[in-house]
This record gives sequence, structure tokens and C-alpha cells, in this order.
Amino acid sequence: METNFSVQCPYCGEQIWMEFYPEDGSQQEMIVDCEVCCNPILYEVTFKGEESNLRVERAQ
Ligand SMILES: [Zn+2]
Repeated sequence: METNFSVQCPYCGEQIWMEFYPEDGSQQEMIVDCEVCCNPILYEVTFKGEESNLRVERAQ
């Protein structure tokens, strides 16, 4: 199962690597500030069976 996710910051477009673990829950939400532009990014990760999916959007 993939736990490393590559996403683009919805503000500045910077590529960000995030790691999430299915042990922490099949649905997780987390807000983390972008290291480059410091804007809050909302991460929504879903684990279902062998599939994992990460969605990002602006948290403000
Ligand atoms: Zn950014």
C-alpha cells in the first residue's frame, strides 16, 4: 500500500511529499502549513482496501 504521497501546494504549486499511515484511520484529515508559502493546506486521505487516495485543498 502506498503511504507516500506527492501533491502540489494549492497556493504556490510547490511539490510536497507527505506520508500517511492506514493504521491511523481509514479517513484522515490534517491541516499543515506549506513550508514554502506558509499557507494552510487541508489534506484528506482515504484508505480503502489496497487503495489510498489523497486530496488537498485550501484550508482557508
Ligand atoms: Zn505553498
